[in-house]
Amino acid sequence: MPNHENVHFRPIVGIDLGTTNSAVAHIHNGKPEMILSPKGERIIPSVVLIDLKNNVIVGEDARSALVAMPDRSVSAIKRKMGLNEPVSIAGQALLPQEVSALILQELKSYVDAIYGEGEKEAVITVPAYFTDEQRRATKQAGELAGFVVERIINEPTAAALAFGLEHTDEDRLFLVYDLGGGTFDVSVVEMMSGLLEVRASTGNHRLGGEDFDWKLVDFLSEKIVEESDIDPRNDIRATALLKEEAEKIKMRLSKDFVVPVELPLVTVKDNEPVGISTEITREQFVGLIDGLLLETMESVSSVLKDAQISPADIEEVLLVGGSTRIPRVRELIQDMFAKSPRTDVNPDEAVALGAAVQAGLKSGALSDSGLVATDVAPFSMGISVLKEWMGLTKRPGGFAPIIPRNTTIPVTRTEKLGTSAPGQTEVAIEIFQGEHEWVKYNHRLGEFLLSGIPANFDKQEEIDVTFRYNLNGILEVSAKCVSTGKEMSVIVQDGLQRDSQKAFQESVQRLEDLWKNADQDLDDEELIDADWEEMEDLLDDTELDEFDIDNEQAPSVLHEEAVQLRERAVKMMAELDADGQSKARQVINSLDQAIAGDDLEHLRNVIDEATDALIDLEL
Ligand code: ADP
Ligand code: MG
Repeated sequence: MPNHENVHFRPIVGIDLGTTNSAVAHIHNGKPEMILSPKGERIIPSVVLIDLKNNVIVGEDARSALVAMPDRSVSAIKRKMGLNEPVSIAGQALLPQEVSALILQELKSYVDAIYGEGEKEAVITVPAYFTDEQRRATKQAGELAGFVVERIINEPTAAALAFGLEHTDEDRLFLVYDLGGGTFDVSVVEMMSGLLEVRASTGNHRLGGEDFDWKLVDFLSEKIVEESDIDPRNDIRATALLKEEAEKIKMRLSKDFVVPVELPLVTVKDNEPVGISTEITREQFVGLIDGLLLETMESVSSVLKDAQISPADIEEVLLVGGSTRIPRVRELIQDMFAKSPRTDVNPDEAVALGAAVQAGLKSGALSDSGLVATDVAPFSMGISVLKEWMGLTKRPGGFAPIIPRNTTIPVTRTEKLGTSAPGQTEVAIEIFQGEHEWVKYNHRLGEFLLSGIPANFDKQEEIDVTFRYNLNGILEVSAKCVSTGKEMSVIVQDGLQRDSQKAFQESVQRLEDLWKNADQDLDDEELIDADWEEMEDLLDDTELDEFDIDNEQAPSVLHEEAVQLRERAVKMMAELDADGQSKARQVINSLDQAIAGDDLEHLRNVIDEATDALIDLEL
């Protein structure tokens, strides 16, 4: 008999996996709350170090070692998420999602300290402009760290949730201005009868507080060049030291109007220490970074334009990200919106807290709040079509968006297309995301071939192409031949599950080895190289190029098609006369043989012949 008191909920947390800092939060007593590290930190640097004893160290200690052990540490890995390019750390090659998994594992240990061992669910945030690959890699990082990844949500949505929780009865528009260490993201978020919806979103994933640090590094370096005729930027350690100092100066300038700089040893010239002793004012600092800040304000204008509203329509501006502590940011916002931005949620914590709110909505811990979160598609998604060119000829490679940018998700949209040539029996569905009218300038997501279309010489055959985009930013595309009902689909998220499953297991193994190998001498270079070559092979396998045209379809797709045809032949048997049945049996036999064999070219031909034969039989 089920006993309600004994039902154990799987704990669910919200995670901000940031470029610079990461944090985890949960719902406690009906409110979002940060989960602290054993040292009491609310956020930790997203830096991973493998120390000399091969221990994996994440957070502040890893960050301090960045200068001393640059080839044993990795920072800002988020910038590489979604790329199949490994980074080298302590002589080992790790994929970006594997490095991220180490950060998430660290956060998970804080969660485990509260909830004990056992399964945990997580909502993880990503910038709104993350592509499908980047979202996929983020989800995988969570899984590698041992989380059940409940959902991937956009950071501005999470931020709005963090600010919006107590104000569900009022309808209003927010602007979320998120300036972190490495990313800038601005979104218009609408709260209506408890429904939270991102209306528009834009950003620059190459702009953040780090850039301000570098401006200060240049400023200090030029002073040193002037005074001592040596450029510290030519010395890696000196540069790293200046960068670290620059960040401290920058942070102090958010509070103070002038900050003294006393660095007796930055670099060495002719065996003599070279340093700097000066001061820098807030005004000077603003002079250095104002160009970058004005760029962010241009993005603000453009997101308002996208949402078709003016600054006066914005009820509240929410400041998110550590860099919004800079007073000049608040000034610029104040000037544009003629009102003070809201700063009542700690800007470093808002995203994690909001992810926890989303987690709470899912688990039921916040079911009374009346909130439901939706999101928007960050890019247009669509397919390649023939497109009129200069009003004269039709050229291939035109982009037909099926889900336009900023459409509220989850969403399902179907577009009707026609075959383009008489008698055409197959259509290549090429999937792209982006905003350009020609696909070659957009980002290619995948492709598949819908074949078995009846050869129709009189009119176009109708094809329904359906795009289904869910809240995790995962796209499923299907195409259906209307006259035959034949359908094929591809999930861009898990498109080649078998292969990515193999790669995933490899990743799990590598991470386990990392933990196991702590304290052991791991300089068996040959072993590492061998592992690496194997992994590269696997990565090649996971490329979507198996979907390339010229009949080079993925084996699984061809097999699936053959199996479907076989099923259809079996179903038809009942309605056929003896002659027809014998023909159908022949089709089934040849399909069976081709499926069992491994000659794909042959399978392709058999499928074509079988399709023709079955169509004849149906008529
Ligand atoms: P991310 O989202 O990129 O992980 P965060 O939101 O944690 O980043 O912001 C980190 C950035 O905020 C860093 O560049 C840091 O220097 C900057 N930052 C933190 N506190 C302050 C401050 N008081 N004044 C100015 N910048 C700050
Ligand atoms: Mg952030």
